[in-house]
Amino acid sequence: MRYRSANEYYRSLFAQKVYRIALDAGCTCPNRDGTVGYGGCIFCSGSGSGEFAADRDLPIRDQLEQAKARVRAKSDSDKYIAYFQNFTNTYGDEEELRAKYKDAIEDPQVVGLSIATRPDAISEKMYGILEELAERTHVWVELGLQTIHEESAKWMRRGYALPVFDEAVRRLSSISGLDVIVHVIMDLPCEDEEKMLSTIGHINSLPVHGIKIANLNVLAGTDLARQYEKDPFPLMDMDTYIRFLGTVIENLRENIVVYRMTGDGAKKALIAPLWVADKRKVRNSIDAFFRTHDIVQGKCFSQGKE
Ligand code: SF4
Repeated sequence: MRYRSANEYYRSLFAQKVYRIALDAGCTCPNRDGTVGYGGCIFCSGSGSGEFAADRDLPIRDQLEQAKARVRAKSDSDKYIAYFQNFTNTYGDEEELRAKYKDAIEDPQVVGLSIATRPDAISEKMYGILEELAERTHVWVELGLQTIHEESAKWMRRGYALPVFDEAVRRLSSISGLDVIVHVIMDLPCEDEEKMLSTIGHINSLPVHGIKIANLNVLAGTDLARQYEKDPFPLMDMDTYIRFLGTVIENLRENIVVYRMTGDGAKKALIAPLWVADKRKVRNSIDAFFRTHDIVQGKCFSQGKE
């Protein structure tokens, strides 16, 4: 095993391939509606960083059926994880959200629930709902951290301080049947490799189950795109990024599941770096790199501990 991939992890849990189906709970985001800020994070697209979600006007069961039909067209898998991806999925009327989550997990083919949110948008009542859901199915809560560095967090207008994230991770991960996945962004313009690796080091120190690693994607229509077009900053080319990814994996605690390794913005909205658009080539290049280099997840992490 070079790194602990989500596919292997799912197979260990469910003994087969499992698809994540992106659903839309109809939420907004406190970083967009003025509660925390206006305009959102600098990189966030109008779809709330979830380009592949279903039609939010449809009931959850219909969204599920449509998505399952799409998966069936390319695979014979019959187990799914309901993934509430775009915007802040614990932000809104808690009872309405509870009903939507329950609609999703009542489907006998849905074997788990993944909920993407912000650490500062989980009310007491929502913690209770998450606990209740975790008694019925496997729950993953995905938190967008991106970076531990205050200067970068300000630049990207993340809108909460690091201790808020740390506390949410501790509290969520203490719920039985619930695991925390953290989103991080590499290649931020104000960060060097040392800074990026210290974000990984901080994640290692917390009870985090999984990580989604993205390289910064500049998407059309975002404030980041306006900044980039006015004053372009360098972004890693594919080979440099993949090499750095190897270092990230070596510095990542060995039991953290790696759910994603690159940005995943919609191809038609992508402004930079353009190599991200060729997903097959990127995937093959990452596989080839890991096959031909002696990279083992956690190698540097365990050395650092000794
Ligand atoms: S918290 Fe998520 S949905 Fe809200 S602005 Fe930031 S990236 Fe977008």
